[in-house]
Amino acid sequence: MSSNLPAPIILWFRQDLRLSDNPVLEEAVKSGHPLIPIYILDDETPGDWKPGGASRWWLHHSLKALAGQLEELGSRLILRSGPAGHVLADLVENTGAAYIFWNRCYEPFHCERDAKIKSTFTDNGLTVRSFNANLLAEPWTVRNKSGDPFKVFSPFWRAVRAELDPGKPLKTPDSLNAPQSWPDSDRLEEWELLPTKPNWAKEFEDIWTPGENGARDRLDRFLENGAKHYADGRDRPDKAYTSGLSPHLHFGEISPRQILAATDSVRDSIGDRNAEKFFSEIGWREFSYSLLFNFPDFPHQNYQSKFDHFPWREDSDALSAWQRGQTGYPIVDAGMRELWATGTMHNRVRMIVASFLIKHLLIDWREGEKWFWDTLVDADLANNSASWQWVAGSGADAAPYFRIFNPITQGEKFDPNGDYVRKWIPEIARLPDKYLNQPWEAGPLILKEAGVKLGDTYPEPIVDHKAARERALDAFKSLKETA
Ligand code: FAD
Repeated sequence: MSSNLPAPIILWFRQDLRLSDNPVLEEAVKSGHPLIPIYILDDETPGDWKPGGASRWWLHHSLKALAGQLEELGSRLILRSGPAGHVLADLVENTGAAYIFWNRCYEPFHCERDAKIKSTFTDNGLTVRSFNANLLAEPWTVRNKSGDPFKVFSPFWRAVRAELDPGKPLKTPDSLNAPQSWPDSDRLEEWELLPTKPNWAKEFEDIWTPGENGARDRLDRFLENGAKHYADGRDRPDKAYTSGLSPHLHFGEISPRQILAATDSVRDSIGDRNAEKFFSEIGWREFSYSLLFNFPDFPHQNYQSKFDHFPWREDSDALSAWQRGQTGYPIVDAGMRELWATGTMHNRVRMIVASFLIKHLLIDWREGEKWFWDTLVDADLANNSASWQWVAGSGADAAPYFRIFNPITQGEKFDPNGDYVRKWIPEIARLPDKYLNQPWEAGPLILKEAGVKLGDTYPEPIVDHKAARERALDAFKSLKETA
């Protein structure tokens, strides 16, 4: 294609679905070249980790939002599907583009693919440039005194904080140069990212607004309301004290830098302790990315190899009861039902349900990881695998295996009025507080008055807590003996 315009830049959007604080966009706009923004649905590269159902729902809406924003700036979002290298080669041939720019991803399969693409196109004379849009520190730059990646969170975060100079977030450009003619694009609907038969994501729309504007609104709401309760209240699933930013962060609709800058600007009103606690959770995300980048087997292999001998049980009935929120333990079931209905689950409850699967049911953490991958709107390879291995005790800087959450006392402590359990398990809502987390302890009269028939309207517990705890400790002991 010949034209008087300089050769276009292909602007490859990936997990950076935003226009503000987007370094790739800043550089591309500065160059004055025409820009061809593209999103490629590449389901081949991730293999087992192609985005799950809930992520696809999010992606659909996020792409729609991004396309709308680009149009307002005189541009478009080209959609193509297939292996990214092939799609880009076709696009280069048809547009005469001489540059490909993107913001980095850190999943091992993306790193491998991107390195190949970079070398192939560079060999063919194109200029390929990549940028950091989504992390405070690149995972290969944070090292301990011996030059190794950190395996413990606190020193890792201290090191990141010490070097942290996030600067001011970048502005949204006023306009984007269009190419002389636009290449073909798929229609978003053709990708069938939304569930239809059945539409299990009906409730998602009431809760989430994917896209950059939704992310900004959520951050503003958090800083106005939940943030001042964050340090003490972030463990309460019955309260809206956390930010709800995780899916927005995963899809890059907001950057950690923007979050830090906005939080700093209201530090006086929310208090230092809350701001620092919130920052440190963003720090855990950085730590997960560092683990994933430096130990790329993290999503599928025990980080501590002694866990390779763990006597996991195969029990599809128990797994299915856990997935459906039918274990008979109300806080566990409430979490799993929240997940199914909304695509998210409060962090404290994620820890409780994960501990229950791994320790009470002795089911391999990778089964839980897979289920979360498909059902979470914030499913994120780094955070999900690091968190599952943390709960299992098999990860880096993990909770010790013998810390087995008691689902009864955890429910009583973190949902003290029972509001969370009552919301998600209406069939036991009329039980008095005392029995809400252990309905099997209520006498027949109390159950009758509450309209509960155990084993009928709500399940009997699928394992006895004390027996399950002993079994888990024995399994762990056997591991130590074989190690
Ligand atoms: P906030 O408390 O407002 O925290 C702000 C941000 O910090 C979050 O959006 C998130 O990006 C980051 N963050 C918070 N807690 C953690 C943590 N423990 N580890 C890493 N980053 C954190 N988070 C995901 O983003 N994707 C996942 O797939 C995921 N899977 C998990 C699986 C298990 C078993 C567990 C125990 C946790 C998992 N988490 C995951 C971490 C955490 O539960 C969520 O990030 C958090 O609940 C999101 O809610 P929020 O945005 O309101 O968090």
